[in-house]
Amino acid sequence: MPLSFSDLNLQSPLLNALITAGYEKPTPVQLESIPAAMANQDLMVSAQTGSGKTAAFLLPTLQKLIKRSEKPGKGPRALVLTPTRELAQQVEKNAQIYGKNMPWLRSATLVGGTSFGQQIRALSRPIDLIVATPGRLMDHMRQGRIDFSRLEVLILDEADRMLDMGFIEDIETIVAATPTERQTLLFSATWDGMVGKLAQKLTREPQKIDIAREEKQGKIDEQLLYCDDIRHKNRLLDYILRDTSIDQAVIFTATKAMSEQLADRLYDNGFSANCLHGDMPQGWRNRTLMDLRKGRIKILVATDVAARGIDVPSITHVINYDLPKQAEDYVHRIGRTGRAGRTGLAITFAEVNEYVKVHKIERYLNRKLSEQTIEGMEPTRKRASKPTGKGRRSFSSNGANNPGRNGNWSNKKRRTNADGGQKSGSNRISQTNRSRHTSTRSANNQPKH
Ligand code: AMP
Repeated sequence: MPLSFSDLNLQSPLLNALITAGYEKPTPVQLESIPAAMANQDLMVSAQTGSGKTAAFLLPTLQKLIKRSEKPGKGPRALVLTPTRELAQQVEKNAQIYGKNMPWLRSATLVGGTSFGQQIRALSRPIDLIVATPGRLMDHMRQGRIDFSRLEVLILDEADRMLDMGFIEDIETIVAATPTERQTLLFSATWDGMVGKLAQKLTREPQKIDIAREEKQGKIDEQLLYCDDIRHKNRLLDYILRDTSIDQAVIFTATKAMSEQLADRLYDNGFSANCLHGDMPQGWRNRTLMDLRKGRIKILVATDVAARGIDVPSITHVINYDLPKQAEDYVHRIGRTGRAGRTGLAITFAEVNEYVKVHKIERYLNRKLSEQTIEGMEPTRKRASKPTGKGRRSFSSNGANNPGRNGNWSNKKRRTNADGGQKSGSNRISQTNRSRHTSTRSANNQPKH
């Protein structure tokens, strides 16, 4: 098994770009996918977000694009479909990083929520790579702006998610417009159900690559905290957010309204917090993500769809304020932390009567989540069924069995906070955050969507 990028027979424009990007060696999904894709194989890859899957499909694709197309026309030679705008933008950004030494490379992102003008201009000239969400791509296709006759590679990123979002018909229409001799690279967290059937239809003798879920384990510490009700949950959250080891955090809520409400509350409490959800205009979403990347936002309160594709290495904590609706979303959510080889902490709140949903997530993960309590803030309501197993831990006040690393809820800190430090401490935070935050928040003073 080769160990370095140069062992993968990547050409020098790509190898040099990877050196510039600071990538030292391929990740497991890259090690397996790149040679197979370069051998022209169709692929069905199950790998989690954060595993390096984007480079796993972009590098072999860009390598193909180094050679001139033999076919006339100006249509795209490679197409990447993603479920969300943010992920599409992220993928194109990566394509620009890896294609840095290919000055002739022309790529475009076709996503909704942005003006058509620029996209139409991009499509009026020969284009190599299109990264798109299905809806906007279909809009352009209906107007006859896209000619797929030159298409060599079709990639579906987070295919399961696209189907969850109801894109099946759009995907089938798009695929039907592409040449049958294309190469198809599919990436999905799972192949269960409809996505497996779709994969069978789209691929020819695909090579299946399964990068074990365990790959993410060890990098992300996971904790489950039960609470009585929303007031209890808010108290736990406030306590956790005072943890000084938090660099940046993403908090997931079940609804858009809740993401706004919670971001407002945290902002009022002095945190540089902002929300991100699918009803916000695209420009505004982009600005919020930029603020997150630049460190101007410490806490992002987001819904599932909007948070897909967030790739900010300094996110140290993910907090599931509400449980995800689908078990697989849990994996996507926690993948927002522990990125680029760092460690992260994912904390999940569950109300005591939500234990069935927790068990569903645990069944999906095939492991138990480590249940923990914060001393003095334990749930008082009983649940009908107690989870068994050795996951349950409670941290003592002396911090002797505190979780270490990021999960350090020792009482010492609470006492410091409670002994007057809390007020002044949070004031101190709020001062810093507010001054950093002024420009960020002004966007949020606009009417909400
Ligand atoms: P992805 O799973 O594609 O979203 O990638 C997760 C993160 O890992 C991104 O920040 C990538 O830039 C980074 N990354 C991908 N491949 C490598 C690599 N071989 N070495 C270091 N970082 C990488």
